[in-house]
Amino acid sequence: MPSLKSSKKSLKRKNSLKKSKNKSSKKKKISHADALKINISVYCMKCRSKQNMHKVGRAIKKNKNGSHMLRGVCQKCSTVVVRII
Ligand SMILES: [Zn+2]
Repeated sequence: MPSLKSSKKSLKRKNSLKKSKNKSSKKKKISHADALKINISVYCMKCRSKQNMHKVGRAIKKNKNGSHMLRGVCQKCSTVVVRII
């Protein structure tokens, strides 16, 4: 019976998808409410080191692919820095 075999294959595929989802959820994420309040360190291209993002002027923007970005300025040199949240 070929129909049984194919159903078993699709089950296996579903399991492997679940595993990969769990891996990505382990990643540390900043909630949108926190993103405007807490200290967030970002890599500044101008300072060439990690700097804190200035709390004033932060904005959350949505990408074309559905992910969110936090846009702000470097506390040291006030260059625009972006972090994916
Ligand atoms: Zn900087």
